[in-house]
Amino acid sequence: MHRRALQTLCLVPLLAPCFTLGCRDGGADTPIKASEKFEAARAWKHMQAQIAFGARPAGSPAAAELRDWLVAELAALKLSPVREAFTAEGTPRGSVAMENVYADLEGQPGPDGAPAPMICLGAHYDTKRMDFEFLGANDGASGVAALLELARVLSNAEQSAVTYRFLFLDGEEAMRFTWRDPDNCYGSRHHVRQLTQTFGALKRIKAFILLDLVADEDLHLELDSNSTRRLLAIFRKAAKGLGDEEIFARYWNPIRDDHEQFKLRGIPALDLIDLHFGPQANEYWHTSQDTLDHCSMESLQRVGNLVLAALPQVAADFGR
Ligand SMILES: [Zn+2]
Repeated sequence: MHRRALQTLCLVPLLAPCFTLGCRDGGADTPIKASEKFEAARAWKHMQAQIAFGARPAGSPAAAELRDWLVAELAALKLSPVREAFTAEGTPRGSVAMENVYADLEGQPGPDGAPAPMICLGAHYDTKRMDFEFLGANDGASGVAALLELARVLSNAEQSAVTYRFLFLDGEEAMRFTWRDPDNCYGSRHHVRQLTQTFGALKRIKAFILLDLVADEDLHLELDSNSTRRLLAIFRKAAKGLGDEEIFARYWNPIRDDHEQFKLRGIPALDLIDLHFGPQANEYWHTSQDTLDHCSMESLQRVGNLVLAALPQVAADFGR
């Protein structure tokens, strides 16, 4: 009760921050001309929509239904979603059909007509396969929900100097209960492998930012020692600018997640994740307690504000 009361008090000043977008040549931030703000209520509806599909493990009919919904949502934003279907071979469950979905919001081409450098924002949409109906409100649905709302806001903003790729990843979760390589990150591993097979595609991606478990009502994003420090520094500075330094935890924690696959290929990468989901430690994670009533709309708002506040500097520092 006490925590909820505090959150309500904090909500108002966090709703209307001023965002800026970076420009490619000067490195300075320029004011954003966005007709929309990040609306957590919209993101919350995206969480509800995903949970309504039930458990959504990789290869399940529910995951396929969710993909169709995702494609329709992206198309409604006038983006052109791409389905990246593949078969994950040799998993503990044999061959599993999977599919990433992504859409690009093109930035201004260079003077020579070259495509704008790309910043990729990602989230995994699969939920962990369990022996009960694991709904993954936070672990799965929250990142996708925030990413879809970010796609809406950025689509309504003035064209950026960078292209944004909104990447919805399949197969992040391990098929086995425990996380043991290479039984995890099937979608991100496939996506970066595809990038290496298209001339110039890997080089075009200047940074990868991952959203995962971002709706904990007691939100403290990890100081992930596996993330690129320069990217994390930009986000911490942006949080400070928003008066929300508390959004980050105080202690370093090495996180293994989809961002690793990008880092392995030399792409600067950051994971925005709170892996302390629950009142004590991480007791709601991968349990039947990962439900909407342990998530918070305000946390989504804070994360949305943070990403929008940080992106201009990411574009300025990395997008060239
Ligand atoms: Zn998980």
